[in-house]
Amino acid sequence: MTTLTAALCELHRIHRQLTDLRERIARGPKQLRAAEGNVQKGETELQQAREAAKRMRVHADDKQLQLKEREGRIKDLRSKLNACSSNREYQALKEQIAADEQANGVLADEILDALERMDELAAKLKSADETLQRVKSEAEKVTGRVTGEQDMLQSELARVQAELKQAEQALPTEFRVEYERIAKARGEQALAQVEGETCGGCYQTVTAQTMNLLYLSKPVFCKSCGCLLYLPEDRMPKAKA
Ligand SMILES: [Zn+2]
Repeated sequence: MTTLTAALCELHRIHRQLTDLRERIARGPKQLRAAEGNVQKGETELQQAREAAKRMRVHADDKQLQLKEREGRIKDLRSKLNACSSNREYQALKEQIAADEQANGVLADEILDALERMDELAAKLKSADETLQRVKSEAEKVTGRVTGEQDMLQSELARVQAELKQAEQALPTEFRVEYERIAKARGEQALAQVEGETCGGCYQTVTAQTMNLLYLSKPVFCKSCGCLLYLPEDRMPKAKA
């Protein structure tokens, strides 16, 4: 014969298992969202790296064009040197050439900097691309694993729910409604084992009267938290003949 204590203990175990299954089922979509989020982040970063590299190339090209134009002008000015009619004009041209050459020196340094930055950005682009490939393949793995797991967990949930229904049959019929109300509202938190003389749900000491009812294998609720209480089976008095 199943005692009430044994039935409650079994029901609590099943409710805990259901909580665990539901948590694992809920975790699946979260893992999928996290993996999808990583892919989106990777795509954004790759796009940004591409744009930064492109901007730097445009910037470097622009500087190189300026350099070429000024070099052309310097060549032009030099060719005019021989045709100068006065020393003053000659000096002015010389000064212009010197100024342009100095400006081009600065520009050449800027171009070198830009080329260095382009190398750095190309490395960043490569790394962003690798990261994206990695998170994409991780996301595929997660999707495959979660999909497989969800099917397994759903069938396990159905099995344990059926097990719960079966175990509930062991409860006295007059007590069934009360149990169902609290079980529906609280799940595994509906039940608590008494540890020593303490409710395992709220850790308050239970009254002597409650303890007496428990020893008599009567349904009893914790006066503090409302949990349905039960004693560990090894603390139940031996069934009287
Ligand atoms: Zn309690």
